[in-house]
Amino acid sequence: MILLDGKGTAATLRMGLAVEVQNLSRQIARTPGLAVVLVGNDPASQVYVRAKEKAALEAGLNSMVYRLEIETSQKELEALIDKLNADDNVDGILLQLPLPGHLDSQACLERILPEKDVDGFHPINMGRLALGLPGLRPCTPSGSLRLLAHYGLNPAGKKAVVVGRSNIVGKPLAMMLAAPTINATVTVCHSGTKDLGAECREADFLFLALGKPRFIKKDMIKEGAVVIDIGINRTTSGLCGDCDFEDVKDKVSAITPVPGGIGPMTIAELLFSTIQACKWRNQL
Ligand code: NDP
Repeated sequence: MILLDGKGTAATLRMGLAVEVQNLSRQIARTPGLAVVLVGNDPASQVYVRAKEKAALEAGLNSMVYRLEIETSQKELEALIDKLNADDNVDGILLQLPLPGHLDSQACLERILPEKDVDGFHPINMGRLALGLPGLRPCTPSGSLRLLAHYGLNPAGKKAVVVGRSNIVGKPLAMMLAAPTINATVTVCHSGTKDLGAECREADFLFLALGKPRFIKKDMIKEGAVVIDIGINRTTSGLCGDCDFEDVKDKVSAITPVPGGIGPMTIAELLFSTIQACKWRNQL
């Protein structure tokens, strides 16, 4: 069984990115900038934002983190997004989700300029993904595919099953897998799927993004499958994925750990996106 080490892979990728940031900074005579906006004090979001800030700084990006009070109004948040949209030193804007309940996430996401939308959640970028046009892509699906590529695991011509159809993970991942660039044959499962086990047992590549701790057991997995566990679940015994790692580990050919799998890849992907956004904005 191959343990797909996202933490180590992301660290290697980030070193290469630091060199790219240096070169790019010379070309554009400034440092590419990433602005991260966090509203409120959700503990998990605070951890994610700190990790993103650290990775951005280590890669040599101009990292700007805006920590706003939980009482921030829609108008105030939109004013900040407008300011960042207009700031030429800002190449990427990431709005950390979830937002406090009184704020309209969709309206805020749509307010970010598509060319600075490094999370790839703007309808323009999702539409470009659906149409197979270049654009900024959601980081978790991209990071999952980059990890597979790093290990030489190619889903082309294979059966891929994606469990979960959220706008941020399952849906864009399914679109990317089915695109001619990857060429997998894709099934998408959700809470309306009749027999989840039967669908998962068909998968050569099984992508889990349902957010249910240790839900997928070995009787739901094909012998020799590659399992990409995207779930991050907080339990009393710590973080775990959507898959019961101990139960399935002797049946799979490769699997991501949680933590240390897709989480760090997602953060590395945010840096890739920022560099890409900066290049496109500068016609490079
Ligand atoms: P959502 O809750 O938005 O979506 C979950 C999806 O799973 C839904 O489509 C839901 O179906 C489906 N689902 C839930 N239960 C079942 C079930 N029993 N059988 C089949 N399908 C089911 O979650 P997200 O996509 O935002 O996140 C999924 C997981 O990934 C979470 O654990 C999250 O923490 C993690 N995550 C990890 C990231 C990383 O960097 N590694 C980044 C983002 C998320 P339906 O649509 O019918 O409700």
